[in-house]
Amino acid sequence: MPRYRLKDLYPEESTQSVQSLADTFEKYVTEARRLQAEYQGRINLLVGAETENIVEGSVQHVKDLRERYQLDYLVGSVHHVNEIPIDFSAEMFQEAVKVAGGLDNLYEGFYDAQYQLLVQIKPEVVGHFDLINMFSQAHPLSPAVEAKIRRNITTAVEYGALFELNSSAFRKGLPGAHPQANIVQVEQKNNIFSHFSRPALLTDCHLLAGGTKLADDQERGWQVHPF
Ligand SMILES: [Zn+2]
Repeated sequence: MPRYRLKDLYPEESTQSVQSLADTFEKYVTEARRLQAEYQGRINLLVGAETENIVEGSVQHVKDLRERYQLDYLVGSVHHVNEIPIDFSAEMFQEAVKVAGGLDNLYEGFYDAQYQLLVQIKPEVVGHFDLINMFSQAHPLSPAVEAKIRRNITTAVEYGALFELNSSAFRKGLPGAHPQANIVQVEQKNNIFSHFSRPALLTDCHLLAGGTKLADDQERGWQVHPF
C-alpha cells in the first residue's frame, strides 16, 4: 500500500513523492483489474495489497484503501515499530531497539502492532509473521513476547487467516523462511501446530523486471520448516 507521509519513504525512494506512490498504486490496481477481466474463466486472479501499520491512523488508511479500491484481499504486514523500519537495515534496526528501550520491548511493540491489524483489519493473509527476527536471529523469545505470539496466532486462526510462508528471508541471509523455527516451536509447545496448516506461499520478490530477486529465490529453492 502506498505510504502517505513523506517521512515514511525509504532511502531508495528518494526520487519519489507521496503522490507518486499513490499514482503507482492506482496504476497497479487499474492494470490488475484489466488483467482480471481479460483472463476471467482461465485464471482466478485476485487483486490485493500489503498493509503497513506505522503510526496511529495507519489502520484507518488501510480500511480506506480497501474500501476505495474494493480490494479482493489484504496481506497484513508490519514493517515498523515506533515509526522506525525494522527490516530495512541493521542501522535502522538498532535505532528501533534504542527507541523501544531494548529488544524485548521492540518485539512486544511489533507483535502489538500486528495484533492491532489482525483485530481491526482481519487481513486474509498474515504477512511475514516474524519479520522482527530479521536482524536479531539469536535473540530468545521472552515469556511476554511468546504470549503475544500465541495471542496473535490464535486471533488470526479464529477468523480464518492464511499464514504467509515468505522466502524473502533467504535473500537476507536467514537460515529459513518466515515464519522461522522458533515461531513453529511456539506452535508445537502450545499444541496449536495445525493452525499453520493454512499457508500461503509467497516469494515477496518485489522485482520481476531483470528478475534478479526472483531468480535468487528460485536458485535457492524453497526451504520451509516441516509442518
Ligand atoms: Zn513486507
